Amino acid sequence: MEANNSENLESKGNRPSNFIKTIIEEDLKTNKWGGKVHTRFPPEPNGYLHIGHAKSICLNFGLAEEYYGKCNLRFDDTNPTKEEVEYVESIKEDVRWLGFDWEDREYYASDYFQQLYEWAIKLIKKGKAFVCDLSPEEVRQYRGTLTEPGIESPYRNRSIEENLDLFERMKNGEFPDGSRTLRAKIDMKHPNLNMRDPVMYRILHEEHHRTGKKWCIYPMYDYAHGQSDSIEGITHSICTLEFEDHRPLYDWFCNELEIHHPQQIEFARLNLTYTLMSKRKLLELVKEGIVNGWDDPRMPTISGFRRRGYTPESIRNFADRVGVAKSESIVDYALLEFCIREHLNKIAKRVLAVINPLKVIITNYPENAEEELEAINNPEDLSMGTRKIKFTREIFIERDDFMLNPPKKYYRLSPGKEVRLRYGYYITCTGYKTDENTGEILEVYCTYDPETKGGQSPDGRKVQGTIHWVSTRYSIEAEARLYEQLFIKEDPDDYPEGGSWRDNINPDSLKIVNIKIEPTILEDVLTQKFQFERVGYFCFDKESTKEKLIFNRTVTLRDTWAKISKTS
Ligand code: ATP
Ligand code: MG
Repeated sequence: MEANNSENLESKGNRPSNFIKTIIEEDLKTNKWGGKVHTRFPPEPNGYLHIGHAKSICLNFGLAEEYYGKCNLRFDDTNPTKEEVEYVESIKEDVRWLGFDWEDREYYASDYFQQLYEWAIKLIKKGKAFVCDLSPEEVRQYRGTLTEPGIESPYRNRSIEENLDLFERMKNGEFPDGSRTLRAKIDMKHPNLNMRDPVMYRILHEEHHRTGKKWCIYPMYDYAHGQSDSIEGITHSICTLEFEDHRPLYDWFCNELEIHHPQQIEFARLNLTYTLMSKRKLLELVKEGIVNGWDDPRMPTISGFRRRGYTPESIRNFADRVGVAKSESIVDYALLEFCIREHLNKIAKRVLAVINPLKVIITNYPENAEEELEAINNPEDLSMGTRKIKFTREIFIERDDFMLNPPKKYYRLSPGKEVRLRYGYYITCTGYKTDENTGEILEVYCTYDPETKGGQSPDGRKVQGTIHWVSTRYSIEAEARLYEQLFIKEDPDDYPEGGSWRDNINPDSLKIVNIKIEPTILEDVLTQKFQFERVGYFCFDKESTKEKLIFNRTVTLRDTWAKISKTS
């Protein structure tokens, strides 16, 4: 689509403003890029995408959407040793799932290796790059520090001819790994360390997932990234703050090569409480078997959130609410949970399920009788209709919903007390049976009031508590996986000296329970999201089968009941 200037000046959506949008709107006014907005999302395919990447995806694709521009998906695959095809595929799936489309603009930095090589030769010919024989360790030593200038490499003043010859032989595989590098010739006294003759190419005799054995020299990130942006005609190259110090180098390469020069803009990365966001550490969680794969529902990966039952809408909404800023901050995990609750509240089908079952026998209800009660599928969306659930003499209720010696303000079931069964009758507790040895409550006896069908009493008698239940005869068993935070500390990287983030792992991050659930659950396609009333939001897990239903708890509801019984 050709950009149209007049409609371009105004943003399309009504997303909140931020400093990047201000820059773009100014550029559109001054026609800096000919009215174009072209961004990119540049993941390195060395792991699965996490929620931080989601913020970057929403930002880059979101800006393109808002300003009638384009956003490329570019795999930043300059490091052959850590990259795998599996990651490329997962990244594409995740971006698509979030709801974004890169159309035919799927690019790979490795597609530019030849061009980058030719540009390196151009820099050598300009006297702006040289082959250096220092070892990686020596390069580090010569670099200097923030307070001390660096020392020039003894190979810095090689002739252009010698540099061209050596560089070609580097490319031809004549030298072993680490023996030589190609470096930019800038300034060893530069206050910014990145400008002290940075390495552009290193020798690595490794096969690449796309170029195979073609190359044994690989460009460094700083030499590849800006030029890839340039080749693709990117206008605004948006990256995280740690690249601010690399911007002078980004600019230097574009200027020296005299090529299209995108503007690099840095924003603060997303940090979340109770969450690790480093791909290296996430890989360790997977490799060490601390979690069950990249898409374990406790992982902060996009695939983990998807499996846990998060919706793309909730994550996009979260990204909007978090906003875009110039300074680092840590976002409360509760905001993410708020966003998913908000969405699921609108779309999730309500069902009755009992997580920790306790049998209740309604002694005045006939043994073999049964009846159908009408239940609302979603009070927030009545177009989702109603369903019939079976009521019988024996039911399960939540163990937590019965107490022998309840505290004040406990409005659930206890001896002598009356409660309402959701969509059903009022019942009054008349007795219970305990295990002689353990004192555990085995079953509870109640009577029901036949006049209260549907949850209303004709005499206007009020009960304060409503509890959920399922019929023992008409419920099915399922497994529920209840997740808690993977880490017990807000900052998982806060550990005593000599320790590691592993010390902060929550040993109770996964609890597996057998639950009882109403059989209507089977009517729904596997993608359906559910609210187990009074319990939480759940979805089918991918390991679920017809024989064994498995649910993941996406997020809890804020159950004030649970709080009262715990604190009193
Ligand atoms: P990690 O440090 O976890 O390995 P990375 O930044 O190296 O992550 P890339 O694949 O290079 O991972 O990231 C792709 C894009 O996503 C980059 O533009 C990067 O700035 C952005 N990004 C990565 N992490 C975050 C984050 N926590 N918040 C926002 N953007 C992020
Ligand atoms: Mg990176």
